[in-house]
Amino acid sequence: MTDLHRLSIRELSEGLKQAQFSSRELTEHYLKRIAKIDPKVKSYVTVTAEQALAEADAADAALKSGNAHALAGIPLAHKDIFCTQGIKTTAGSKMLDNFISPYDATVVAKAKAAGLVTLGKVNMDEFAMGSTSENSYIGATSNPWALDHVPGGSSGGSAAAVAADLAPIATGTDTGGSIRQPASFCGLTGLKPTYGRVSRFGMIAYASSLDQGGPMARSAEDCAYLMNVIAGHDAKDSTSINKEVDDYVANLNSTAVKGLRIGIPKQYFNVAGLDADVKARVEESLKKLEDMGAILVEIDLNMTEAYVPTYYLIAPAEASSNLSRFDGVRYGYRCENPVDLMDLYKRSRSEGFGAEVQRRILIGTYALSAGYYDAYYVKAQKVRRLIQQDFLKAFENVDVIAAPSAPTTAYKIGANLSPTEMYLGDIYTLAVNLAGLPAINAPVGFDKDSLPVGLQLIGNYWSESQLLSIVHQYQQNTDWHSKRATIAEENA
Ligand code: GLN
Repeated sequence: MTDLHRLSIRELSEGLKQAQFSSRELTEHYLKRIAKIDPKVKSYVTVTAEQALAEADAADAALKSGNAHALAGIPLAHKDIFCTQGIKTTAGSKMLDNFISPYDATVVAKAKAAGLVTLGKVNMDEFAMGSTSENSYIGATSNPWALDHVPGGSSGGSAAAVAADLAPIATGTDTGGSIRQPASFCGLTGLKPTYGRVSRFGMIAYASSLDQGGPMARSAEDCAYLMNVIAGHDAKDSTSINKEVDDYVANLNSTAVKGLRIGIPKQYFNVAGLDADVKARVEESLKKLEDMGAILVEIDLNMTEAYVPTYYLIAPAEASSNLSRFDGVRYGYRCENPVDLMDLYKRSRSEGFGAEVQRRILIGTYALSAGYYDAYYVKAQKVRRLIQQDFLKAFENVDVIAAPSAPTTAYKIGANLSPTEMYLGDIYTLAVNLAGLPAINAPVGFDKDSLPVGLQLIGNYWSESQLLSIVHQYQQNTDWHSKRATIAEENA
């Protein structure tokens, strides 16, 4: 079969169960595509061909025996922030260029236990700091829809790999938008779960109170399949919540769009810098949902202006603390010929970290320093609480909240926005992480340059099933999610 990469997760699962093709054939098909097409996209940092084929053979044996998991034998790619035993985990940083984890992240372990086949590790902004994936030490990844454009970030490799049909699904992480924004830029569906739903164990920490892993795929249905595997309590992550996990696949039709109250925050659609095409496509998608029976309700989210400054204090503060472990002593990059211990620390960190990471360590250290702690860090925490309350108040009146995922479509590679311009691009995604809420991106059309536009739906705590269900029904009634980039149409 030449078009195995066109099949959805459900079709792959059924095809494998009915032995229409084997996991080995499927895995070889994807590996061939990666070898031929990825040199143009550059989504993979590491391709684990040999291990993938061994995992595929094991899955085929399990499938033959008749007691395989629904996803057994299906390939996936992991963001290079998830620790993988025996395989390099770089987090896009020179600091971890040679780092081989002695253990698997819980997300990786769960994927393996379900019989998913790891194709490899995909590119990202260094330590997940960025919105373009250009901050990777390995170099930029291309957007499959326009190779001279970025795929977004920080999970840009995950998005590009799926959008170019170089993996059927991928894991990503979202600290301030890193699943939703690249999903938006690459025309994919991506879910940022409620904080505590997916284990952070073995996920290299950026800002621990905001970080959350999740699925990136071509549809809500595909995301639901991966969520069924990766969600759940984990005693190894102290912030993981011990709460029953939904069957996200079984629940795909659980929410009625008819009568669903969708909040439209006034403040969100008046943001300076909101691209006219993005605004138009998002409004059209809301009109479509209205035609399907949803009720659009204008709401206020008065804290909107505080999102960017609050996040860009809290996230760097936590990053400065988390990244202090990379000291050139215990693991990671070590400078050549240090003259003494201070020189070892200083040069290892100066040479090992890229510019954006250093910028954030400086900002965070400053915000946490004795003289400024109350003025910056404590104040930001208080504002964070107000942002959360703003959402909770809104949810008294609406079921979900709609927004663009990003004010623009994908930037050109090398556009070289200033740090503040770049941070302003995160306006629509940051608050969700500050409040710990779940949110999803769904593709809803294209701009004048044929670049994908995304709609974001924000739900109340633990509403992952509801979000997936709404998007699933939207996708049953539209075909934006089945459009493919030209490069994905190429055969290997
Ligand atoms: N773009 C945001 C940042 O640079 C979000 C990144 C993320 O979610 N990991 O911090």
